[in-house]
Amino acid sequence: SPMLDLAGIEKTYNRGQPSEVTVLRGATLSVGRGEVVALVAPSGAGKSTLLHIAGLLDTPDAGSVALGGVNMVGLGDRARTEARRADVGFIYQFHHLLPEFSALENIVLPQLANGSSASVAKARAMDLLARVGISDRAEHRPAALSGGEQQRVAFCRALANRPRLLLADEPTGNLDPATSDQVFAALMDLVRETGLSALIVTHNMELAARMDRVVRLAAGRVV
Ligand code: ADP
Ligand code: ADP
Repeated sequence: SPMLDLAGIEKTYNRGQPSEVTVLRGATLSVGRGEVVALVAPSGAGKSTLLHIAGLLDTPDAGSVALGGVNMVGLGDRARTEARRADVGFIYQFHHLLPEFSALENIVLPQLANGSSASVAKARAMDLLARVGISDRAEHRPAALSGGEQQRVAFCRALANRPRLLLADEPTGNLDPATSDQVFAALMDLVRETGLSALIVTHNMELAARMDRVVRLAAGRVV
């Protein structure tokens, strides 16, 4: 079974209200194990909605969602949260790091919440920081890091609990082109080394071309 299997996903916001908007109209997409898929579409096409449904943050009105061959539709909130914590890592355009904690602590904390010991969590965090080339920034708070360094820390945090699926929403969209290229390369190295499956939203066709497959979202469907 694929890592992620979305079939016939439909989603309407504000149903029955004047502001009703149907975003997804039967979107179907699967991501194989170890596969990295680029999702490209104009703003407002529903990419974030699709990522949130794939990552079990939101539920579709119709259609099926499976992670690693396990059906996720109809699960209660608690089971969905557990599945999300076990399987899914998220990265956004803005890093959402905790400002009062160091880079290291930002990567350690989700591991502690997931039941890791402090020593294991710290070793894992240092290993991840080394892989993205910023070991020397471990004790810095986010405000003392460059934008590219902040995103590298956010990648490490997303991967800290060893998810099987990475969902990234324009992960380098907030960086200048040169920094974006470097940070994206670091992300791809990390993804490849760990054999992760990933669905990565990007507007950057050069970055998209470096992934295994490019899909587009148009009129609520994946084409
Ligand atoms: P994209 O990520 O491609 O820009 P989104 O999934 O964020 O697209 O949004 C798709 C459409 O759904 C937009 O018109 C947006 O305004 C609308 N939308 C997104 N989230 C909500 C929400 N929680 N409530 C109402 N409308 C929403
Ligand atoms: P927490 O332990 O803070 O409740 P979860 O384990 O529920 O976080 O969620 C895991 C990840 O999912 C978070 O780090 C965050 O990136 C993302 N996430 C959780 N809730 C939302 C949300 N409402 N909108 C966007 N992303 C979210």
